Amino acid sequence: MPNGRWLPPTIVTQDSFIIIAIDGGAAAGKSSTSRGLSKRFGLMHVDTGSYYRATTLKLIESGVSPERGSDLEAGLAALKLGTEIHGNQATITINDWLPDNSIRSQLVNDQVSHFAALPELRSYLLDYQRSQADVARKNGFNGLVMEGRDIGSVIFPDADLRLFLHADPEKRAERRAKEGIQDSIQKRDKIDSTRKTAPFQCPIGATFLDTSELDLQEVIDKASDFVRETLSE
Ligand code: C5P
Repeated sequence: MPNGRWLPPTIVTQDSFIIIAIDGGAAAGKSSTSRGLSKRFGLMHVDTGSYYRATTLKLIESGVSPERGSDLEAGLAALKLGTEIHGNQATITINDWLPDNSIRSQLVNDQVSHFAALPELRSYLLDYQRSQADVARKNGFNGLVMEGRDIGSVIFPDADLRLFLHADPEKRAERRAKEGIQDSIQKRDKIDSTRKTAPFQCPIGATFLDTSELDLQEVIDKASDFVRETLSE
């Protein structure tokens, strides 16, 4: 492990490798649910929102703006992606930099959806995201739980389980406020769901879960029931 504290992954015995796709808007409960499932079922957890956040920050730092296409190609060519695993979580590294809290700043919150709408950035990250299934296999996990906006629709449309988490906008704003984070949730949702490439949407055939009136434990419990059903199929 090149950097950081290594924590042993939580592994439970299971016969087959499973892929779980979790999509939803900001503060819909994706990260907590994915983390909870990763620990319960011994899965590797990947937060693809952090990929878009980290690449956005690196591109801004190298002077790329989402409006100027030519800079983008050179900006992306200068990025070398890697993966570090800490416990059940696999994290992207960019030119050996392990993303920190700077990817959750107001600047990134404001800019990330504009960058994420660029087809060039989405296709640049596509294979890397898919490659995480092999990383999970090679590292002895029982499967992969990947969260984002287009996981069940584009990245893993054949995932064993595709969950879509929904929560009312007021509830989501409340959750962010409790975390002390200023976030333009509705603005991001609008840009994400109206972009041409891989728009944020509930994938056809995905399992829809409304988390508005549920606490975190209840969401993880319900999601775990869906995973158990999937495993027994
Ligand atoms: O999940 P999070 O809110 O951190 O994601 C930040 C942004 O990254 C989203 O608002 C969206 O613009 C982009 N994103 C995406 N596709 C994904 C994950 C995130 O477009 N699979």
